[in-house]
Amino acid sequence: MENAKKLISLVVPCYNEELTVDSFYQKAVPVLESTAYDFEIIFVNDGSADKTRDKLEALAKKDERIKVVNFSRNFGQQAAIICGYNYAKGDAVMEADCDLQDPPEIMLEMLKKWEEGYEVVHGRRLKRKGESVFKRATASMYYAFLSKITAVPVPRNTGDFKLYDRKALNALLSMPERDKYI
Ligand code: UDP
Ligand code: MG
Repeated sequence: MENAKKLISLVVPCYNEELTVDSFYQKAVPVLESTAYDFEIIFVNDGSADKTRDKLEALAKKDERIKVVNFSRNFGQQAAIICGYNYAKGDAVMEADCDLQDPPEIMLEMLKKWEEGYEVVHGRRLKRKGESVFKRATASMYYAFLSKITAVPVPRNTGDFKLYDRKALNALLSMPERDKYI
């Protein structure tokens, strides 16, 4: 198995994303195909009330690299991501939002960092294009509050757009807390 390609898993939580699923697929797949790795995309449908499930299942039918997990109801974004992480088989595991606010081509830079030996790579929002003054102000208050209430340093403006090496992911998944906040 010496020549086997490494596997990259991409986890995508989806809640009522019928309008974005197809364009996410069309943008993310060429980026992953341009790497030296095999890949799987795990879409976790978090109890969507729209046609997200049908859209995802149509993709999985024509492309075996696509996996779909359906929740019976809406459990929230963090639960969807953790579920995807449990399904992921990759040597490196990434997450991206379905609405393309996380540009898929940045995954190439994350992979480069992983190749350099980094075991966790955070995506950081430098600009919040298209977001209202209210959203930006509340986001800024959120990060300030978060850093006040926790002893763990949380980098500002980092969300769930990240890469974990298998070793780091296994450490995360070994924690028994039910309601994890990543
Ligand atoms: N999402 C989810 N469950 C929810 C809410 C959101 O799986 O209950 C997904 C959503 O489809 C998207 C990602 O989580 O792929 C981020 O959600 P959103 O864009 O609403 O959040 P924000 O842009 O504020 O981070
Ligand atoms: Mg969003």
